[in-house]
Amino acid sequence: MADPLESHVDLASLPKEERLNRMRHSAAHVLAEAMVELMPEAELGIGPPIDTGFYYDFRLPRPLNADDLTWLDERMRRSLAGKHAFQMASLTKAEAEAKWANQPFKLDLLKDIEEGNVTQCTHAAFTDLCRGGHVNHTGEIPAFKLMSIAGAYWRGSEKNPQLQRVYGALFETEAELAAYEQQLEEARRRDHRRIGRELKLFDLIENIGPGHVIWLPAGATIRRELIRWIEDLEIERGYQHIVTPNVGKKELYVRSGHWSHYQDAMYPIMEREGEIYALRPMNCPSHIMVYESELHSYRELPIRLAELGNMHRWEKSGQLTGMSRVRIMTLNDSHIFCTGPEQVEQEIAGVLELMEDVYGTLGLRNYSYRLSLGDPEDTEKYVDNPPMWEMGEALLRRVMQRSGLEFHEAKGEAAFYGPKIDVQFQSAAGKDETLVTIQVDFHLPAQFELEYVAEDGSRQRPIIVHRGVLSTMERMVALLIEEYEGNFPLWLSPVQAVVIPIADRHVAYAEEVAKELRAAKLRVEVDGRNERMNGKIRDAQMRKIPYMLVVGDREAEARAAAVRVRGGGDLGATPVADIVARLRDERDTKALVPGVFREA
Ligand SMILES: [Zn+2]
Ligand SMILES: [Zn+2]
Repeated sequence: MADPLESHVDLASLPKEERLNRMRHSAAHVLAEAMVELMPEAELGIGPPIDTGFYYDFRLPRPLNADDLTWLDERMRRSLAGKHAFQMASLTKAEAEAKWANQPFKLDLLKDIEEGNVTQCTHAAFTDLCRGGHVNHTGEIPAFKLMSIAGAYWRGSEKNPQLQRVYGALFETEAELAAYEQQLEEARRRDHRRIGRELKLFDLIENIGPGHVIWLPAGATIRRELIRWIEDLEIERGYQHIVTPNVGKKELYVRSGHWSHYQDAMYPIMEREGEIYALRPMNCPSHIMVYESELHSYRELPIRLAELGNMHRWEKSGQLTGMSRVRIMTLNDSHIFCTGPEQVEQEIAGVLELMEDVYGTLGLRNYSYRLSLGDPEDTEKYVDNPPMWEMGEALLRRVMQRSGLEFHEAKGEAAFYGPKIDVQFQSAAGKDETLVTIQVDFHLPAQFELEYVAEDGSRQRPIIVHRGVLSTMERMVALLIEEYEGNFPLWLSPVQAVVIPIADRHVAYAEEVAKELRAAKLRVEVDGRNERMNGKIRDAQMRKIPYMLVVGDREAEARAAAVRVRGGGDLGATPVADIVARLRDERDTKALVPGVFREA
């Protein structure tokens, strides 16, 4: 650790990360300096560096606005031009308490600092309580920009006062800062919440509750197509689909361990007729009940139970984000009951194959596999059973190595009952998140004393593989919206074609064309509104409908339509029978871009 009272630091000799941290932390001081000038009543919280810059939390007499941000930004630049040195000094607790007597948050911080460790930092006329780690002077703070204002609770707890947080971006060069801003712009452009609203895919309604997604007709169509597809793929691979209730008794979750390891993430419990019930946080216990309901022979294993199962998790309201962080979600879930490690390996290899197939078809590329390990030291978070962890982790490592797929390992990322393979997805909006997991589980079979009859007639304990492939419908559709920027491939498009009559007298023929397409189970609308044709085409493009079929006198006579493709491209007058054949092909091959066919 650096000496907090160091007098000079050679920035160029430091690793980039530390250099950036010093620049970002120093910039936070300058932000506080500017804020105190803007509002002398400001009460100061903390101002740490973050991955993309810095922030500072303040309690202020009024809400900040965009003009304030501009003013603060300019004031900071003046301070940078002044090249004010950052000077550290030690002081006693009593001195510090006197100095920040009007700063309740500083006093709160001081409580946790031991006598002898209290230090402050002064630059220009501003002094802050600080542990150190700065650049030499404000002139060494490079490219920055104040970005936004957000709410934040003191020490992150809802029980504490709410503060206003000012975020700044900071990078070493203007080019890096510009690249970051461009990435943010890209994220805004692709934001599934905005596109979801524009295309009327889903909604969140206050009275139905935060984090409870409503699938509107267009979004429900995408969801249904994904489910039909994945269920068919599962049937081909020997899965059996079941449907189990959303609610289970307390005893079920006590036995599974969710009651002791996971209750904070569950909905409040329900009590009636002396029984306690919970909304299920995961589907595993219900699936285990199905397995346990009869005695199985080794001949039946592996048994692959699958369900589009609802899960209920009490995410904090501040954590909820559109469809990617919700409270009720439907997982493309399965539990595979295996005879032993050998069968587990085969089954996981099969799941990896299915994943590659599914993500390939969806055109997803930016993902990687992560082997998520437990932490033997953390027996509170993880089930305490070292041999079980070792066996599970070795097994998953072997499967990944044999699969030939690239992967990396991460400690402390496992589920509470076992290690897992996570599919880490880097979204088009630049976010890195776990899309889906494969877990190997020796723990729940033991908890539930599961058995099967082995070849020699003895009773043996199965191993469970938990796996998702399509993730939750909510998270997958959120991701696809951002990946495709709302331009869904034909097979997933809520409306696949719109027939546009040029004049009123062509509406009847437009309906005939639509009828022919519908007979091929294509989703088609007729835009019979009394509007100009160009306006209708523009609306169809806004709705990102893959095909626009324009019909007038000539087309009616030739039993044809003039075909326009989303994103440009004009196929000209095409016989309706050909259009049907073409769209059907494109749908059935799940081509990613309309008008461009996948090689058979
Ligand atoms: Zn500092
Ligand atoms: Zn499970």
